[in-house]
Amino acid sequence: MIDLVSDTATKPSAEMRRFMADAPVGDEQLKEDPTVNRLQEMIAELTGKEEALFLPSGTMCNAIGIKVHTQPGDRIVLEKYAHPYTSEAGGPALMAGVMITLIEGKRGIYTPEQLEEAVPGYSYHSAPTTLVCVENTHNRGAGKVWPLETVNAVADTAHRLGAKTHMDGARLMNAVVASGVSAKDFAARYDTVWVDLSKGLGAPVGGVLAGTHETMERARRYKHMYGGAMRQAGIIAAAGVYALEHNVERLADDHTNAKTLARGLADIPGLGIDPDEIETNLVFFDVNDTGRTAAEIVAALKEHGVRMGATGKYRIRAVTHLDISREDIDTALRAVGEVVVGRG
Ligand SMILES: *Cc1c(COP(=O)(O)O)cnc(C)c1O
Repeated sequence: MIDLVSDTATKPSAEMRRFMADAPVGDEQLKEDPTVNRLQEMIAELTGKEEALFLPSGTMCNAIGIKVHTQPGDRIVLEKYAHPYTSEAGGPALMAGVMITLIEGKRGIYTPEQLEEAVPGYSYHSAPTTLVCVENTHNRGAGKVWPLETVNAVADTAHRLGAKTHMDGARLMNAVVASGVSAKDFAARYDTVWVDLSKGLGAPVGGVLAGTHETMERARRYKHMYGGAMRQAGIIAAAGVYALEHNVERLADDHTNAKTLARGLADIPGLGIDPDEIETNLVFFDVNDTGRTAAEIVAALKEHGVRMGATGKYRIRAVTHLDISREDIDTALRAVGEVVVGRG
């Protein structure tokens, strides 16, 4: 099966597993796991923050990122298709008790002017805006990288309005590799930022949240409260260390494969996609003109040994990653051609 549903599909390689097996471990709750500590130092360094905290998932990175900057009843700002709004099970409402103002961006990118318009000025009638979030790259925005100037301008506007800033960097390293802008530069004006280890980087578990010592001290309490504090977690943190050392530069291959896939899809009659818009590893295409729904096409592709995801009635997502080769892309394209044109 060629699995293009998500970049979470990667399996730890034999070398990664060996590195995990050999990792020194201790009790991470007592800050005594050397491998967890090493991973946290690597991410702090990478993002230019004082401290970082290893968490079991990216979802918990967002949950805690939102929690540490807000009080119940506050307003947070998210882009309309941001992950905490679409895919975190109502967590911001339950765990942080916040209300959400949505901004519709262009492929996930919004402007400081839109932020300013969306947020009411101070009045005791309205909820105070205490957090503004961006997602880089933007998942539903088809892996769009935030331009550095825009991401900086949004943060500056947020701070001027009295809000903190949080960057969902589930695929921050994809943004870094695609743009040449460092993680440190992307995150410089963000109070918290996190990186997912279990997406394109190829580790099986985890995300790492970063910010100031003071913020991370409070984040540590919520990690405990939400049940995210572990024990000899070095055995999984080791996969993250390995991933950061071996799997960052190669994200460029995923981007090339995504581009190749997009170009091939654009040549298939009935499919809607602009290959020029593909910047990283996420490929979305429309199937309106095929006479079939996304779900029907996805089901037929599965029969051909290719998995993709239906993300809308007529929209399909395909994601390249570490376990997808150039040959897999050619095979996937042949399968899509057979299904869509040959009505296989
Ligand atoms: C996957 C993802 C998350 C959640 O990460 P998990 O590790 O799956 O919990 C958050 N934000 C974005 C943009 C994502 O793509």
